[in-house]
Amino acid sequence: MHHDPSPRTERLNSWLEIDAAAHAENLRIARHLIGPDVELSAVVKANAYGHGWRTIATNAIEAGADSFCVHALDEALALRNAGFSQDILVMGHVPLARLEEATAADLRLMLTNLETLETLAEITARRGSPTRVHLKLETGTYRHGVDEAGLETMLEVFHEHPWVHLEGAYTHFADIEDTTDHSYAAAQLARFEAFCARIRAAGHPLLKRHAACSAALLVFPDTHFDMVRLGISQYGFWPSKETYLSYRERHPGEPAELRPVLSWKTRVSQIKEAPAGAFVGYGRSYQTTRASRLAILPIGYSDGYDRRLSNQSWVLIRGRRAPVRGRVCMNLLIVDVTDIPDVELEDEVVLLGRQGERDITAEQLAALIGTIHYEVTTRIRADLPRLNR
Ligand SMILES: *Cc1c(COP(=O)(O)O)cnc(C)c1O
Repeated sequence: MHHDPSPRTERLNSWLEIDAAAHAENLRIARHLIGPDVELSAVVKANAYGHGWRTIATNAIEAGADSFCVHALDEALALRNAGFSQDILVMGHVPLARLEEATAADLRLMLTNLETLETLAEITARRGSPTRVHLKLETGTYRHGVDEAGLETMLEVFHEHPWVHLEGAYTHFADIEDTTDHSYAAAQLARFEAFCARIRAAGHPLLKRHAACSAALLVFPDTHFDMVRLGISQYGFWPSKETYLSYRERHPGEPAELRPVLSWKTRVSQIKEAPAGAFVGYGRSYQTTRASRLAILPIGYSDGYDRRLSNQSWVLIRGRRAPVRGRVCMNLLIVDVTDIPDVELEDEVVLLGRQGERDITAEQLAALIGTIHYEVTTRIRADLPRLNR
């Protein structure tokens, strides 16, 4: 069942709400595209892109996800400790000194270094139990990944260490969400397939080949292989405008409604009048042009509300836009409610999400500060309550 949704919000100054139905629908769209036999792995790294890993992991499994991908060993151990028994791929480096811990938790580990392979060989032989690795391959992104020469060396070493089981091989595209031209991705895909053929020829059945992030899953069916790694679109975001356009082109007439899963809320903590010409906030960066009513909100850059949104963004109160005035403080935000009648102490305020007829999207905030929506949500403070609704 879902987590209990109710520490009551009256007791909270700021919280996030997770729309479990929207999340399930986004996963359903992915499942529809890949079919029943491809493993659907929910990427829950970075606190599930800021959505809260525990709630998202629970909902994802309930909605039909098969497994998880994380970045760090500690994220995987947290899932294990919370009782998740599904497969978990750790896609980041595990310090050699912690491989014993990783092995004991029965994880899938990214492999790119010979040192990791040799340490795992030593540990698994001593324990007398196998461990699973997924070889990350260099196809043109030049992040983590083993090149051709590295692969040949690895394949030789694998022969000596039967306890280290080469379960998977994967790669990650450099340029799939930033363009509607997928020729670079196609070249990476061809390299990936050649790598996989080479690994199989060396005697490894390679049960799990995977290459697809959200964008590849949505617009590039040849990338689905045995498993997909579903990050951003699970949370109801298109990876980019380009991905959305490519998707529309390839699926004419088909509805594609990804629904944002997260809303971020706070409440009014003071209302005050300021005369015309009053300076607002640190550095006096805003001066009122008329007698104004201001609302103070108990949220700031330490909560993940980016300081570069100072004098730029807006929030929703009583279904209307209230512009941010002056600088975003560490724990406070000041907004103008002069044109919104009847605002009261503790009125609910939407920082991200929908209120009435209006909404504020992570894409909008990202555009204001020159970044991507991924960064906007992942930086929301991890210890704010996440409530399932
Ligand atoms: C984060 C990540 C993903 C998920 O990407 P989305 O664009 O969010 O779907 C997939 N694969 C790897 C290796 C990643 O690091």
